[in-house]
Amino acid sequence: MSAQAPKEATPSIKDPRIEVSVETKLGTLEWKKSPNAHIALRNSGADAPCVASCHDKPCATVCPAKVYEWEAAHKKIIVNYENCIECGACRMLCPFDNIACDWPDGGMGVRYKFG
Ligand code: SF4
Ligand code: SF4
Repeated sequence: MSAQAPKEATPSIKDPRIEVSVETKLGTLEWKKSPNAHIALRNSGADAPCVASCHDKPCATVCPAKVYEWEAAHKKIIVNYENCIECGACRMLCPFDNIACDWPDGGMGVRYKFG
């Protein structure tokens, strides 16, 4: 009877070796903060759709870099543009087309490192 080689563990979706949180991935990036915001709300006033119409506030949940925060006390969305990783999602996600998202000035913004 021959000895069998030990079976290698098959990585599963729950394997901690292959689970990487968004926060961990963000920690590998570098940013160069531009003095000019490349993202702005078209309407950030008291009559903005963020206040009365947009109940789900998808910007605050979809953006992977947590650029948008709903500040309930002041009834407004805060835009932390310097955290943006330029994924482009917010160009499509606002149901009221209230987000103006451009690219940061040349040489500014996120820098991706590979490896
Ligand atoms: S998704 Fe658009 S309308 Fe809704 S809270 Fe965000 S910016 Fe405001
Ligand atoms: S481009 Fe991506 S990371 Fe930047 S604000 Fe929009 S959703 Fe967030």
